[in-house]
Amino acid sequence: MNKKRISIFGATGSVGQNTLDLISRDRDSYEIVVLTAGSNIDLLIKAALEFKPQAVVAATNDQFEELKNALRNTQINIGTGREALLESASRKCDLAFSAIVGAAGLEPGLIALENGADLALANKESMVAAGDLVKQKASKNKCKLIPVDSEHSAIFQALHGENVNSIERVILTASGGAFRDWTIEEIAKATPEQASTHPNWNMGQRITIDSASMFNKALEVIEAKELFNLASKQIEVLVHPQSIVHAIVGFCDGGMLAHLGPPDMRHAIGYALNYPNRKTLPLEKLDFTKSSTLTFVEPDEERFPAISLAYDVMDLGGISGAVFNAAKETALDGFLAKQIGFLEMSIIVEKTIAEICHLKNCHKTEMCLSNILDIDKLSRNFATELIQMQGS
Ligand code: NAD
Ligand code: MG
Repeated sequence: MNKKRISIFGATGSVGQNTLDLISRDRDSYEIVVLTAGSNIDLLIKAALEFKPQAVVAATNDQFEELKNALRNTQINIGTGREALLESASRKCDLAFSAIVGAAGLEPGLIALENGADLALANKESMVAAGDLVKQKASKNKCKLIPVDSEHSAIFQALHGENVNSIERVILTASGGAFRDWTIEEIAKATPEQASTHPNWNMGQRITIDSASMFNKALEVIEAKELFNLASKQIEVLVHPQSIVHAIVGFCDGGMLAHLGPPDMRHAIGYALNYPNRKTLPLEKLDFTKSSTLTFVEPDEERFPAISLAYDVMDLGGISGAVFNAAKETALDGFLAKQIGFLEMSIIVEKTIAEICHLKNCHKTEMCLSNILDIDKLSRNFATELIQMQGS
């Protein structure tokens, strides 16, 4: 049996480590081509020694000596810095996991597609900032986009064998995050530490805080629109505190298909890893006799304004998603650095959209990589200025 060749961009993160965990339990089925990390060099070294990839890359240059020393008795090719990261994405593989957090994950994914790899897409920012571009690259190179985000994997699975024209609507569920039951006054005073715990899922810090603000769901609404070519009005969000139903697809005949599973990313990762097949996964299964209550409520727009901003951005169209994502990432940095409060994040994003999208006619701008990178930079600069004004 031919081994499936896998590259993982963001191998030391939560998605990356969960992917390696599944691979470690079925070693004969996969060959690792590339593993990359941002700054978590110890985990990269550990994974490199265990999985013996062709190449490893750390995103910052100052880690070269450390990597070289640790891997000196191996044949592994070592690279550091952004250029090496992009270069590694052109190594031939069958499936590339896009598991870097933030817009930094866009280019490696595009390059992997250009080089014929199917893309297991955890990096939702790619679809938010540059959905059309990612889809064009995939179709031009006859590559598949396989969602890894649990809600999108759920929709993808529910749509298997269905005609997409018969979709009436799609419901994304949200846990409600750390502040689901907090008052707006309490949320206003929330600290990064409080926002960094999730009631159900165990994920990286940035997506966990995005879950608390519901910016994560806002990004996911746009991600769903792009991945499944939906109109914004076909997408709904319901808060579902149990995180058992990940998404529901409603069809024109009134039938609905829901996807259910425990809140463990390895289900969605395992599906992407083995697609189009399914494999037995060594994971917990649902037991309805133990958790039989499933509840759903509409999200509260006043406490969580992020979702309605996503609908504004979808209405604007063009490259507005790149502005939204860049402003959100910058506002999150500001919150993490304690320069702004929790609720100010959405104000920064709203103001950045209002300024940059209109100033730069984002709705009319051609979607190409250089335009996306330019508008990303501009939006980050503008949002940073707003944050600094807030602090002064
Ligand atoms: P994480 O913070 O745990 O890991 C991110 C990975 O990217 C790490 O390997 C890190 O070293 C690397 N990285 C960070 N910045 C980088 C940069 N500038 N250049 C190169 N590498 C960099 O993140 P995560 O929680 O695993 O999330 C990864 C992506 O998957 C995000 O887009 C997130 O929204 C999405 N996602 C995550 C989960 C989850 O369960 N964690 C679920 C759904 C979707
Ligand atoms: Mg999700």
